[in-house]
Amino acid sequence: MRYRVLGFEESGVRSQEIGDYFIYSPYTLHPTPHTLHPTPHTPHPTPYTLHPTPYTLPPGKTFSANPNYLMIAGFNTMYRRELLQFIGSHALFGAINPEFTWNYQNIDHWGELSRNYCLCTTGKQQTPIDLSIVTEKELYQPTFNYRPVPLKIRHNGRTILVQTEKGGNMSFHGENWDLLQFHFHHPSEHQIKGQSFPLEIHLVHRNGKGNLAVVGILAEIGAFNPYLQTIWAYLPQEPSPEMIIPDTWVNAGLLLPENSGFYEYRGSLSTPPCSEDVLWLVWQNAIEISPQQLQQLVAIFPSNARNIQPLNGRSILHS
Ligand SMILES: [Zn+2]
Repeated sequence: MRYRVLGFEESGVRSQEIGDYFIYSPYTLHPTPHTLHPTPHTPHPTPYTLHPTPYTLPPGKTFSANPNYLMIAGFNTMYRRELLQFIGSHALFGAINPEFTWNYQNIDHWGELSRNYCLCTTGKQQTPIDLSIVTEKELYQPTFNYRPVPLKIRHNGRTILVQTEKGGNMSFHGENWDLLQFHFHHPSEHQIKGQSFPLEIHLVHRNGKGNLAVVGILAEIGAFNPYLQTIWAYLPQEPSPEMIIPDTWVNAGLLLPENSGFYEYRGSLSTPPCSEDVLWLVWQNAIEISPQQLQQLVAIFPSNARNIQPLNGRSILHS
């Protein structure tokens, strides 16, 4: 008998009293002997290798299971830490792809899942933030040299990803930043003066030195968005390998709002490994999408946004 383990989450109060924890991770449990194996059933396009030395639970620890999750009875905090270290170290050494260990249900534990993810907990320049306390300044304007590329789309379990190698670049402060990909969050990750938006698009760029810059585009409910629809027509409903859609082209430049001011600040990736020193440019004016278009995304991702992070003395420039 095998149990699927899907990530990590503490159980409710009653379970904590008796020292039980729910363990969700991409592992399979073999009750006899008590060992954990990476599950071969994770619905993800990239398979990972089985690790040769499975984790053995300490003596006296037992399992019970229900159809949806695994419960390990008597699993106290120390063992929990051990297990997280196990999952984290395996992620680090590539026995499993670290992509599998985080999701929006274990958002409060990202920093514990892998040593690579510690900035998610300890970082001081994290994204997203509320864009409210700003310094008005005449800012250097980015110019966008995006061009149409064939639509390459993938559902990676946490967002819809559009790969845009050769999709052009952004020029900012005399440097060229190549557009690598863009993806979608619902609701928005950034807020403007405490206000959240139903959708945020992130256009991820990299310069020649390997630094990252992300352009954030907020969307509000309004008119049908024909540019987004080119992508929406092919939204994968479930995790999928990359699909290249014949005769369909996307141009990221068509998603940008017109004549908009923007916010500039230093932040991080808003997903593990939460790497810092990321340049963020978030557009002030929202673009519009129809309620039906939003609903299509919400049906796939009820929520895939990180919560607001502390500013920690950073300045937000606004132009
Ligand atoms: Zn993002």
